[in-house]
Amino acid sequence: MEKQKLYVHSFESFGTVDGPGIRYVIFLTGCHLKCKYCQNRDTWNIKSGTEYDIDEIVNTVLRYQNYFMPNGGVTISGGEPLIQAEGLIALFKEFKKYGIHTAIDTSGMFKITDTIKALIDLTDLFLLDIKHINPEKAKGLVRRF
Ligand code: SF4
Repeated sequence: MEKQKLYVHSFESFGTVDGPGIRYVIFLTGCHLKCKYCQNRDTWNIKSGTEYDIDEIVNTVLRYQNYFMPNGGVTISGGEPLIQAEGLIALFKEFKKYGIHTAIDTSGMFKITDTIKALIDLTDLFLLDIKHINPEKAKGLVRRF
């Protein structure tokens, strides 16, 4: 397994509102926005999370596989998961070996780099958090760090 790490805020083993089926939800720390309505402010600082090896997370998730397979999967939320894209690539490569459906809950406010493209290829579903349908009003709802 690759020796990448992820900063994790918390785990939820039986999520029902973060994608199709039953989801194992992993909330990561780190966010570059400050949405006025944010309910997860304790995830903003990446260093406030607990550092986990990828293999630790995979082994934990595999213990719950019988609950969420075949119609569910794993959803990564936060915080803004794309901040930790490299670690997620390593994590999702492992999940794909076990046929686990992968989803990411994101603001989508990211440049499309090669790293992000690689992560997109490993992600079955994106849950896009659109701040506001009007771009100017959307800008008024967030402040970048
Ligand atoms: S993107 Fe999400 S986690 Fe980040 S500030 Fe906005 S609502 Fe909070």
